[in-house]
Amino acid sequence: MIEFEKVSKRYEGGHTALQGVSFEMSRGELAFLTGHSGAGKSTLLKLIMVMERPSAGNVIVGGQQLNALPRRQIPFIRRHIGVVFQNHQLLFDRTVFDNVAMPLEVTGVPHREIGRRVRAALDKVGLLSKEKMNPIQLSGGEQQRVGIARAVVNKPPLLLADEPTGNLDPALSADIMHLFEQFSQVGVTVLIASHDIALIRHLRRRVLTLSNGQMTTGDAMPGEEVLYGH
Ligand code: ADP
Ligand code: ADP
Repeated sequence: MIEFEKVSKRYEGGHTALQGVSFEMSRGELAFLTGHSGAGKSTLLKLIMVMERPSAGNVIVGGQQLNALPRRQIPFIRRHIGVVFQNHQLLFDRTVFDNVAMPLEVTGVPHREIGRRVRAALDKVGLLSKEKMNPIQLSGGEQQRVGIARAVVNKPPLLLADEPTGNLDPALSADIMHLFEQFSQVGVTVLIASHDIALIRHLRRRVLTLSNGQMTTGDAMPGEEVLYGH
């Protein structure tokens, strides 16, 4: 689903954010992306979303080589990628339902189908009973789940999350991660950028680690490299 081949990203002004990064993720795989602040995590996610272009190397998503992608095709690629942010970027002047419906409205999905898909997404995150509320009336964890419902309402094959549990306590963070695991179990590829080392260790999933723009581990859990090579 995702393939990076010796990808480098040098921003205008000369700063190298990523250098020679190679990894692959298959369909339905869930992995964490970790590393210090400034390591290049957001840049890596932006390359997948085609918000930035690589300076060298190849980025391939869903079999599409993104380097050569014409600008006008970018919106079509983005529709296949769900994105969850730390500050969930909900609109507080509309209901939970309308927030989740937004990605469907911009793509012209018929009205009846919107209702069905929004309710299916809210059901998956356990918020079906709150569709008429304003997000401001919800707790932080619930708001984040609305953000996740909005990210998956198009049923994207790929879900990216940038520090999705940054503002949540450990129990709520574990709930959110459990939701991501459920999506990966139905075939969604999930890549989660996170600093939350304790939670990441607990979940025992693949960890991609960036350090100063280079990928230092891509296969093993931190401290469990010994499991590989047998
Ligand atoms: P992280 O998400 O791991 O904190 P980033 O990908 O945001 O890392 O940043 C990696 C490096 O690239 C940092 O040194 C950052 O300052 C730099 N950087 C990020 N975005 C830009 C930009 N638009 N222009 C110039 N430098 C940038
Ligand atoms: P329908 O297929 O009729 O639209 P649903 O919207 O309830 O019905 O989804 C059907 C199945 O697809 C569910 O089991 C759901 O978990 C799964 N699914 C596949 N891809 C995704 C995705 N990206 N996000 C959420 N669910 C997905």
